[in-house]
Amino acid sequence: MYNPKSQQAETFINHAEIMDTLAFAKAHADDSSLCTEILAKAAQKKGLSHRESAVLLLNSDPKITKAIEKLAKRIKLDIYGNRIVIFAPLYLSNYCINGCVYCPYHSQNQHIVRKKLTQKDIIKEVTALQDMGHKRLAIEAGEDPVHNPISYILECINTIYHIRHKNGAIRRVNVNIAATTEEEYHMLKNAGIGTYILFQETYHKESYEKLHPTGPKHDYAYHTEAMDRAMAGGIDDVGLGVLFGLENYPYELVGLLMHAEHLEAVHGVGPHTISIPRIKRADDINPDDFDNGIDDDTFAKICAIIRISVPYTGMIISTRENQSVRERLLPLGISQISGGSKTSVGGYVKPETNKENSQQFDVSDQRTLDEIVAWLMKLGYIPSFCTACYREGRTGDRFMTFCKNGQIQNFCHPNALITLQEYLQDYASAYTKQIGEMLLPRLFEQIPNSLIREKTKQYLDDIAQKNMRDFRF
Ligand code: SF4
Ligand code: SF4
Repeated sequence: MYNPKSQQAETFINHAEIMDTLAFAKAHADDSSLCTEILAKAAQKKGLSHRESAVLLLNSDPKITKAIEKLAKRIKLDIYGNRIVIFAPLYLSNYCINGCVYCPYHSQNQHIVRKKLTQKDIIKEVTALQDMGHKRLAIEAGEDPVHNPISYILECINTIYHIRHKNGAIRRVNVNIAATTEEEYHMLKNAGIGTYILFQETYHKESYEKLHPTGPKHDYAYHTEAMDRAMAGGIDDVGLGVLFGLENYPYELVGLLMHAEHLEAVHGVGPHTISIPRIKRADDINPDDFDNGIDDDTFAKICAIIRISVPYTGMIISTRENQSVRERLLPLGISQISGGSKTSVGGYVKPETNKENSQQFDVSDQRTLDEIVAWLMKLGYIPSFCTACYREGRTGDRFMTFCKNGQIQNFCHPNALITLQEYLQDYASAYTKQIGEMLLPRLFEQIPNSLIREKTKQYLDDIAQKNMRDFRF
């Protein structure tokens, strides 16, 4: 029986409930007055149930799709403004004992080069990332208790936080490692991580077991219940995601939203972020081998529906997607993107040749971080390197309270300007700097609170004139 408050995977992600939801959605998808009613509810920015979202997803009327996208754009602007937070992935190790059939790091892949960064390597990689201008990383590692035990991950986090190079610093480390125990999540919490990210890959248990034929990840319940252990271990901010293309997308969207509802029901706070990766080509992986690929229009609709269904959950799109797809998705709800990414182990210092390929997927958006920053500003967005919330203790339900009462706007906008000013002073090309310096005064005028505006002015001047850094609200 479906119960969002249960702590058992198959009860809170209940197959019968998903099938029932999809049958209901199919039966009512053409009911335009119901869709209009659901959209009116979504416009209140209190979210939608998985059943309501499914009805919108299966509706095929282009007018309704337009209305969904229009509302997603409005909600995105109301809650996140035109800021886009930037991060980069850092691959620590591609040793892995799992058999995920969609990932080139799977243990049977004999021709991928296996690498693991030493602490010295990490200093070099992070220095290169700092020199690009990054302040926020997502560390990634395969599951391998011998090569990548928790002690290794903790050592890496500690190293990363202590690297100081010129004006550079990594101020927030998010972690994407395999499902683990409550005790190890507690260790990650104590190491000062930002968000713990774990993609479900697919919510469909039978497919999940086929796609993960070997290794500890085969255990659907252990994987699906990981976020509950993470939260019990003290991690406030968790990031969900499915790999679109593995299973049929309506099933996945319903599962994803049920997972968000479950976290809210049990822990009082939903997911901090949702990522929406699509399966991509990589060594030993051909996306055409998977039957459930989704086209760009469907992908955009999914993005918009997630935005209106969980308005206060950040949404992430990576360099798996090319510039034009990213450009299309940004206004529909995306709040974070990666930039200048390398998906190979050690790739920031030494670009790889095909022969020594260790990357997890082909990067579609290969532009530099500087090009991404300039592109965002030209599109009217504010690139933000802000990491303030977790450093100010605004995490979990505290963070969500600020989000829901709108106060977060008093932090995000000035913090975006402060961190953009740092980027322009320290890392931007002359061209990017010119665009940024034209933009900043206008953005500064948009700070509504006069006290905050005054303080921000002081911070911006101190960064430019006194070489001071790391101001935040
Ligand atoms: Fe290993 Fe993760 Fe790749 Fe699976 S998806 S093979 S767990 S690195
Ligand atoms: Fe994110 Fe908080 Fe910074 Fe806003 S103020 S961009 S929510 S870290």
